[in-house]
Amino acid sequence: MTTNDADRISARLLGKQDPPLEELLALDSEDEAGTDGSPPERLFARQATALLNRLGQFGADPEGGTSRLLYSPAWQNAQAALEEWMNGCGLRPYYDDAGNLFGRLEGTDPLDRGVILTGSHIDTVRRGGLYDGAYGVVGALIAVSYLQRKYGPPRRTLEVVSFAEEEGSRFPLTFWGSGNVTGLYDTRKTPDIVDAEGVTLADAMNGAGFGLKRYRPSRRSDVRAFIELHIEQGAVLERERKTIGIVQGIVGQKRFTFHVKGEANHAGTTPMSYRKDALSAACEMALYVREAALQAGDPLVATVGKLEASPGVANVVPGAASFTVDIRHAEAEALMLFCRSMRERFEQIAARYGVTVDGEEWMSAAPVPMSAKLTALLGKLCISRGLPYRSMYSGAGHDAQIVSAICPAAMVFVPSYNGISHSPHEFTSENDLAAGIVVLADLLYMLAYEGEAAI
Ligand SMILES: [Zn+2]
Repeated sequence: MTTNDADRISARLLGKQDPPLEELLALDSEDEAGTDGSPPERLFARQATALLNRLGQFGADPEGGTSRLLYSPAWQNAQAALEEWMNGCGLRPYYDDAGNLFGRLEGTDPLDRGVILTGSHIDTVRRGGLYDGAYGVVGALIAVSYLQRKYGPPRRTLEVVSFAEEEGSRFPLTFWGSGNVTGLYDTRKTPDIVDAEGVTLADAMNGAGFGLKRYRPSRRSDVRAFIELHIEQGAVLERERKTIGIVQGIVGQKRFTFHVKGEANHAGTTPMSYRKDALSAACEMALYVREAALQAGDPLVATVGKLEASPGVANVVPGAASFTVDIRHAEAEALMLFCRSMRERFEQIAARYGVTVDGEEWMSAAPVPMSAKLTALLGKLCISRGLPYRSMYSGAGHDAQIVSAICPAAMVFVPSYNGISHSPHEFTSENDLAAGIVVLADLLYMLAYEGEAAI
């Protein structure tokens, strides 16, 4: 591609008000780093804002927010734009058979064929924001582009990834992108599931040109480390005035539905002492969950998110009630113990009300620790840059927890304004966006240029 071509494509992608991609990603501005070794934070801020705004236009909802569902036209156009941007940054873009998009910067060491991978997901929830997933992809592109322009080719190969799917917002499954890379999923054995319109995952995938063996298989064995930059999606960093969150691990979680059975009866003629009120018992159980979680303290969280009573009329003592419980903790043992004592307490409460309770556990995911070596390196980098940071657990799932099955993985969080995510109101300040990219670039430099022995 000639410079003119790149400029033309960039102008089309970025809109007339934005500088061309080449110019945007170039270091030849007053922000250029190198003279004193400090990273070009103002340049990163400008680049991140311009690219995120541009990416957010693919799937922009007229009523606000961005809907970029897996394999949809908006998703395809966003991946195509990223492909051009990767090209413009001097990376070699390529797809795999699941539709994951990679941008490769070849390493110079002939003896080291491993890849340092960084990125996140391109899909969004319905009417989501500009930052969830997109920040990790755009930030990776900016960091790798910066390293390449400043230091030339790395010793170890660097790749930026835009994972096809993480959110589970079109089909009832999550991590389709990273799951194909690790072998959790396989495009040749597509789950038999449909979206809200009845379209199968296989048809949607084939319709977008993937799953047809036109591209290289998704499964990878050459990834040596994965670093994911992401917004926090919570309010902890903002409240504590920290710029960077270093993720120690992704919490494990269990979800249950409990069914309480009592006896429906006349609300006027049944004295209080004769009642078998399923709803009152369920309410006491729900309050117990809250009290026990408060007592257990961080990082345990527990939520009763749904409560239904039957028959659900004003003048009948409720004969049945059911409710859900969602419990998360960073340690499998603590999670298991909390669930065990919760079940015991539910039995005691049921006995007091003269009702029965039973429950099924319908979801269980083990906690996933991030690489201790990589998180230690991130801590040192934050200190050397003077960036306020804290260690934390992620209460939400991320691609890094999937990729950690095949290599050491780490995550860097930046603050979310008011803790809001999965909403058009998602926002992270330019300074925080830039700080995350600085830390990412520093770690990638250590791993790919200095050949850091930590991995
Ligand atoms: Zn995300």
